[in-house]
Amino acid sequence: MDEKKVELLKDGKRISGRAFDELREVKIKLGVLDEADGSSYIEWGNNKVIVGVYGPKEVIPRHMENPSKAILKCNYSMVTFCSKEEHGKMGPNRRSVELSKVIREALEGIVETNLFPRTQIEIYMVVLEADAGTRIASFLGAVAALLDAGIPIKDIAVGIAAGKVGGKVVVDLDKDEDNFGEADFPVALTRTGDILLLQMDGKLTKEEVEEALGLIFEKSEVLLSKLREAVEEKYSKEVVKELKFSNKIIK
Ligand code: ADP
Repeated sequence: MDEKKVELLKDGKRISGRAFDELREVKIKLGVLDEADGSSYIEWGNNKVIVGVYGPKEVIPRHMENPSKAILKCNYSMVTFCSKEEHGKMGPNRRSVELSKVIREALEGIVETNLFPRTQIEIYMVVLEADAGTRIASFLGAVAALLDAGIPIKDIAVGIAAGKVGGKVVVDLDKDEDNFGEADFPVALTRTGDILLLQMDGKLTKEEVEEALGLIFEKSEVLLSKLREAVEEKYSKEVVKELKFSNKIIK
């Protein structure tokens, strides 16, 4: 546990100046890699993530094929220069293995893998800059890149975190809030309200969990419209009509 005492609230606001229910700015761009079947670039506050999707393609090694569905191979990694303080080695480590696994399991809840038996779909998520919330930014980037690749998904999904800082439940923690706050609560959820990923560090009461989930559900609307705008920018309004982006959770 870090002993450093950090004031996370000042005059009823977060140190970044954001309100408790305010997200950092999110920008999504599709089709940023020429060689990939689908790709995206996400800036979420100071997080920067690039995602490439390849496939459906032949399974290597062959014996890993599934005769009834595609297998998803997810790879989350951070570049060595992704943050000021921590410059780890490149290559797989405990964190990248865990995050690749939880993101894969979340994506398995929406990708129509049954349409592509005996194939694999590769999803590479590279964090270029990290400022807390990289797993949900990577998840959002993966959904955007899958849409760009035209891989059918059952429902649009987004990732978003809430947490607790200075005794208040807030949405979308930045790194200081993540490091020195009381709880971090990342969630991935579909447009229709199914939860695909839910993790928590720290301590929240049952009421605070409900409040955090309420904020997450409410603010997922912002991310759904950012995704819609990104698809519209690269494709057309017609494509967007086919995909349902409106949030059914709170209506
Ligand atoms: P998330 O990025 O999903 O919030 P964590 O809560 O584990 O994941 O990490 C919070 C933040 O701490 C990261 O976004 C990043 O800024 C920093 N961090 C954690 N581990 C590392 C690491 N190995 N290398 C660089 N930064 C890291």
